[in-house]
Amino acid sequence: MNLDDTIVAISSPPGAAPRGIIRLSGPDARTIAARFFHADSSESLEPNVGQVESSRPAASLVGHVSIGRTSLPACAYLFNAPRSFTRQDIVELHLHGAPGVLGLLLDQFLAAGARSAEPGEFTARAFLAGALDLSQVHGIAGMIAARSDHQLQAAARLLHGALSRTALAAREELADLLSLVEGAMDFADEPIEFITPDDLRRRLNAIRGALDATAAAGLRAERWGELPRVLLSGPPNAGKSSLLNRLTGLDRAICAPIAGTTRDVLTAPLDLGDHECLLMDVAGHDDPTTDLDYAAQSAARAAIQSADLILKIVDASKPWEGDAPAEPTFIVVNKGDLLGDPEKDELRRLLANKSTHSAYFVSAATGDGCEALKLGIAQALRDLPVTINDAAIALVAEHRQALDDALRCLSSAIELAGRAGDSLTDADLIAAELHAAAAALATLVGRDDTEDLLGRIFSRFCVGK
Ligand code: GDP
Repeated sequence: MNLDDTIVAISSPPGAAPRGIIRLSGPDARTIAARFFHADSSESLEPNVGQVESSRPAASLVGHVSIGRTSLPACAYLFNAPRSFTRQDIVELHLHGAPGVLGLLLDQFLAAGARSAEPGEFTARAFLAGALDLSQVHGIAGMIAARSDHQLQAAARLLHGALSRTALAAREELADLLSLVEGAMDFADEPIEFITPDDLRRRLNAIRGALDATAAAGLRAERWGELPRVLLSGPPNAGKSSLLNRLTGLDRAICAPIAGTTRDVLTAPLDLGDHECLLMDVAGHDDPTTDLDYAAQSAARAAIQSADLILKIVDASKPWEGDAPAEPTFIVVNKGDLLGDPEKDELRRLLANKSTHSAYFVSAATGDGCEALKLGIAQALRDLPVTINDAAIALVAEHRQALDDALRCLSSAIELAGRAGDSLTDADLIAAELHAAAAALATLVGRDDTEDLLGRIFSRFCVGK
């Protein structure tokens, strides 16, 4: 990625809006912007012209921007290097938000020598300039994807460095312990005690406690931008595919009286009025015999795990089997068109006795009951419990993996230290676990400088004297 050129992008969301923002970052940001923006005062964006000096961290100018032969009112915000987000000169122009106007100005900037920014390139420049670490980059992504106040706060905690601080503090302490453990290895024949196994265990336990707490407060941020998932589950031929087609109004799934027609996980968006969800249909619960059956069952299991809501589809023409399902769910009795009213009433009574879940009677064939079912789904999604935790932090899968890896290595090191008697045996094995834990934590902040850290800490010790 070239960092020496000047990039430009429309930074406001697509579509018409009262105000739009175009942002430039790079060495020529001020010169390029100054070709089209003219301040109402005598000040200028251009370096060394007017009074907007580079030593000032930020300045705002009111003026006009020339787009073709038209001049439109605009404000320019100038953030001088190195005190800007990307650590380069940044100019933001705020003007009328019509997409056509913004597009024409963007073209002018491109013709004047700026390059179109790649997605995320402003943040990438901030990361590469050391203004943000990797977990903070994820924090920005989390804030963009957040759909609730709670999620926003959890992403802000990540952006403001809660995870980086924990990871860095744990690595400092690990490096300290590593220097002591490696010292014990290097001077095994000398009567020097670097650290007792008890002390080592105590300090490792403290690190593990801090990482455990962070892992426990983690929210899965990678799915925030996605639609909630509603899964149709039930025996083959209950009518899951027909229901998916009926509810979504799409001809997405093949329906047939042959059990096992659905193999893949089928998904289709379902419009619930004020929001949408993703409806999923998976292979029925057959006894798998072929490799294909096994693959279908495993895809179904993964889909069930990822579902926010599970609808248990029951075939009205078959006898009711099974007790109340354990998943967060409600029961949908399909093929209601095959039952008369007395039979429906009897089934309703039976379900009420057997299960505390709400039951809906529908017919995928005629559409009866489907609108009520959609309302029920919308309500159930609104009612999904959200764990509110003041320390909650947005974590993506890589973060959780790195924390898990570090915790696993720490647990092994603690066990090895526990096996040692009064002096540190197995120091080499313990050191290997601590190195692996430090490396896992390094991925959280996007750097692997364990050796540097060790060098720094060793230089404080004068062990060789
Ligand atoms: P799946 O295996 O659960 O996905 O079931 P399908 O959607 O493939 O349906 C199995 C059979 O039941 C097909 O022959 C459908 O036409 C039939 N079927 C599905 N829904 C209804 C319904 O509401 N009423 C009636 N009478 N038949 C239905």
